[in-house]
Amino acid sequence: MNNRFDVIVIGGGHAGCEAAMAAAGMGSSVLLLTPDLNGLAKMSCNPAVGGIAKGQIVREIDALGGYSGLVTDAATLQFRMLNRSKGPAMWSPRAQCDKQKFSATWLKTLLSVSNLSIYADFAAEFLFENRVIAGVRTTTGAIFYARAFILTAGTFLNGKMFIGQHSFEGGRIGEKASYGISDQLAAAGIPMERMKTGTPPRLDIRSIDLSKLVRQEGDANPERFSYLPVPSAVQAGGTQMDCYLLHTNEKVHDILRSGFDRSPLFTGLIHGKGPRYCPSIEDKLRTFAGKDSHQLFLEPEGVSSPEYYLQGFSSSLPLEIQMEAVHAIEGLENAVFFKPAYAVEYDYFDPQYLHHSLRSKVVDNLFLAGQVNGTTGYEEAAAQGIVAGMNAHLFLMEHEPMILRRDQAYIGVLIDDLINKGVDEPYRMFTSRAEYRILLRQDNADFRLTELSHSLGYASEERYAAVMKKQEDVALLAAFCDSYKVKASLVNPLLERLESTPLTESKRLSELVARPELTLEQLLTVVPRGTNYSSDVVTSVEISIKYAGYIEREKLQAQKNNRLEYIKIPADFDFDALNGLSIECRQKLKRYKPETIAQASRISGVSPADISVLLVYFGR
Ligand SMILES: Cc1cc2nc3c(=O)[nH]c(=O)nc-3n(C[C@H](O)[C@H](O)[C@H](O)COP(=O)(O)OP(=O)(O)OC[C@H]3O[C@@H](n4cnc5c(N)ncnc54)[C@H](O)[C@@H]3O)c2cc1C
Repeated sequence: MNNRFDVIVIGGGHAGCEAAMAAAGMGSSVLLLTPDLNGLAKMSCNPAVGGIAKGQIVREIDALGGYSGLVTDAATLQFRMLNRSKGPAMWSPRAQCDKQKFSATWLKTLLSVSNLSIYADFAAEFLFENRVIAGVRTTTGAIFYARAFILTAGTFLNGKMFIGQHSFEGGRIGEKASYGISDQLAAAGIPMERMKTGTPPRLDIRSIDLSKLVRQEGDANPERFSYLPVPSAVQAGGTQMDCYLLHTNEKVHDILRSGFDRSPLFTGLIHGKGPRYCPSIEDKLRTFAGKDSHQLFLEPEGVSSPEYYLQGFSSSLPLEIQMEAVHAIEGLENAVFFKPAYAVEYDYFDPQYLHHSLRSKVVDNLFLAGQVNGTTGYEEAAAQGIVAGMNAHLFLMEHEPMILRRDQAYIGVLIDDLINKGVDEPYRMFTSRAEYRILLRQDNADFRLTELSHSLGYASEERYAAVMKKQEDVALLAAFCDSYKVKASLVNPLLERLESTPLTESKRLSELVARPELTLEQLLTVVPRGTNYSSDVVTSVEISIKYAGYIEREKLQAQKNNRLEYIKIPADFDFDALNGLSIECRQKLKRYKPETIAQASRISGVSPADISVLLVYFGR
């Protein structure tokens, strides 16, 4: 086997799979080094992809030419567009997935690329040469060389798991932890810390009294994640599986509290910070002490598996307490456990030591992506993976990196937040983190990103052509609606009527738009059948009419703010030589080396007065 590659990706999780596909898709020869071919992009926790803000991220990955959307579609068990009742900035796609099919589809996807190799082993040691990495040695002694490396080792670096007072080494239940490489990188100068996350028990659905639970069905007309015209598993005829809603009660809480003296969270065994927005059940009892019930969901893990995920019941309490508490929940009196809830603590690296390309500021040819940068979630990891993969290739080509702006993508917000603000708990995306929410919608990620990715050599011709066609259709339909002052709420009914109107004349809509003297009634008699706009096009036009004022206002605000994005700060700039900066600002700028004034303005401790000093110096 060849042992020299352009790029080596370490870890086949959500970040690693996207990174490997991106670097290979752009032309690099890639090795994906990961211990288990059957556990690629494993869903360690929730068997679902998407949700609020996360769904937008998956649409963005797809728009860039990535695969998380397509893989999710292929493995969908249930689809829901969340927040339909709210404004379109809040609509978020979410899919329950078949975990095994998800991993198997990723394997098939990776194997379909000729310049991408997979080797099943753990990376045990980086081989450094003059502060850059030349190669990697695996636990079984194999050595591979490359010019760029992407580390995406997830929760495995010095991973330690906890169930009550019982702790054991590992990155995920039943899987070994990874030792050596994180200590090496810390020794090279990348600050490293510990974080923790947890997961709930998995139960046997056959042991549960479903008559006591509230059934939750998928959407009647399920949509999908990918912009490509590939039907999802449930669009192609697969039956949607149900989830179930249930609740804890006072008795459950009392049982859980009786185990607090053996909770590693409260006894100090776990040192790492956990996700505040995805708390364990014991955290919830502490934080919301007055609440006598918490909502839980039972979610399917596979079409042919009785294993269900008890969402909302993440815990690291002793197993006997977990079982007793679960059995006190209505409907779960006889629940059989397949797996216990547990917590895992692991190393992560301070993301402030990364460039916006996700290349390390300390080790020149190393990129980091995913949970190792202090994030949590498949979507956040995959998003960083595609950016790191594309930029690793661009780096080797000596090309400018792809950096997404905050008004361009949630992925831009994610990376900018990580780098300018750092993390003190696992970072999860929320719509509230984005200042341009009405621009960053799930329906328009293709308009925002596909052309850029295509121009850099990743998004395929097929994707590019589809976006161009959609853009043309949207422009025509929008112009038509504008000519006849069609209200957003009428776009859909109008099109339906056009579809069923008998033809007297065959004309393209573009010609009609050029004839504003026609009345709407006259129009209906001449519009050709088969105008046939896809629901994507109609949605885009509806939103653009309904929210025109907000969209315009955010665009203007973004343009104004983006001016600072283009004022570069030289990499070797001497901040000590600049009078007027506060001491804290000077220290932060020297440590994190922002590349533009806009980046500097988002670093905590840098005040508007400091920015004025920088602006005066740089002649603005
Ligand atoms: C117990 C648990 C609970 C979680 N709870 C939540 C939650 O509540 N909410 C949420 O959003 N997310 C949760 N997650 C996190 C979610 O699983 C991750 O955010 C996501 O999987 C991160 O993706 P990744 O690609 O960074 O890493 P991972 O998906 O962890 O993948 C890492 C990959 O790297 C491989 N690897 C590790 N070390 C090496 C090495 N040295 N050499 C080669 N390969 C290596 C591993 O085998 C694995 O395939 C949880 C994860 C765990 C384990």
